[in-house]
Amino acid sequence: MRILAVTERTINIASDVRSASMSLGGMTASVLAVHTDASKDGRPLVGLAFDSIGRYGHGGLLRERFIPRLTAADPERYADGNGSIDPHRAWRVVMEDEKPAGHGERCGAVGLIDAAIWDLAAKAQGAPLWRMLARDGVAAAQSSIPVYASGGHYRAENDIALLCEEVRAAIGRGHRRFKIKIGGATLAQDQRRIEALLAILEAGMTLAVDGNGSFSRDVALRYLAALAPYPLAWIEEPVHPLDFALHDEVAARTRVPLATGENLFSADDAQNLMRYGGLRNDRDILQFDISLSYGIVEYLRILERLAEHGWRRARCAPHAGHLLAINAVGGLGLGLAEMAMDQSALFGKLTAGIAVHDGEAALPDAPGAGFEAAPVFQEVFGGLLN
Ligand SMILES: [Mg+2]
Repeated sequence: MRILAVTERTINIASDVRSASMSLGGMTASVLAVHTDASKDGRPLVGLAFDSIGRYGHGGLLRERFIPRLTAADPERYADGNGSIDPHRAWRVVMEDEKPAGHGERCGAVGLIDAAIWDLAAKAQGAPLWRMLARDGVAAAQSSIPVYASGGHYRAENDIALLCEEVRAAIGRGHRRFKIKIGGATLAQDQRRIEALLAILEAGMTLAVDGNGSFSRDVALRYLAALAPYPLAWIEEPVHPLDFALHDEVAARTRVPLATGENLFSADDAQNLMRYGGLRNDRDILQFDISLSYGIVEYLRILERLAEHGWRRARCAPHAGHLLAINAVGGLGLGLAEMAMDQSALFGKLTAGIAVHDGEAALPDAPGAGFEAAPVFQEVFGGLLN
């Protein structure tokens, strides 16, 4: 199978909300399609990928460096021996002549290409991606996975009323686990938001909070003390994502589960977190964003490193709620998948077609990652396929 072309474009996924660290008012993302000379069921075989959220589009790196490397390669270099493409071999082609570490935004651009190649490989097998990953890995395929609804950003007006409305709507769609932002308002206001939600959650439902890595040591410790009385499922990124010594200190001071990792970008980063972050493998949650950390090929390396440090896959809840992560949770035996609570924004619309019942999502059964079933498929990918 020969890769004929890789097309990409940057799309606007802005929304009128903010977290403790940033506004999403200018947010963009890349979408990408890998076109081949093969066909399946009478249609051209095309691999698709949609970015994660939070790091903007990767068009420059894709166009200047990574796409030309892939399209110039002899197909023998990425062939799998069965007439399809081997994602691991394609990854090595894309990463040729790249230095160790120095990840920058490179890991997001490579992650997009990786995601499209996995979508392509699964389509070539006629299998949903989660089932293909289970076949290749050590986990049993899960066609239904535990999910949590993520959102609770700050609004300029009617913040608590809109927050409650957002969570009630997610409850109505079948969710039982929720996560909202903290740190974008005063501590007292954050407590009011948490209390308002705890008052409307039903028995067995859970609430987690996300500081987006914005707290200094003193603020983090003040928040930990103030939030200790609430039955929170976890506190996410209470401190800067790269300050492993401070994670170690914070973890030693609280029994509440901590979650982090969405702003680390490689297996080496994950290993450093394991070595120096003081995280507890009986309760803490690892959220490496697969799309933003070089894709599934690198994520499989991350899982190997975690196992070496005594971590089970059940402690992994990859960031962002994109289809790649949802497939990986089902196919690699991970613990929990994120889904966007706000389905009015484009990012949430991509997974709006996935049914959730009693906190469990039914994974798509169509070949590949499942983009074609998204209600916004034509809007997002149409321009790349014509
Ligand atoms: Mg987060």
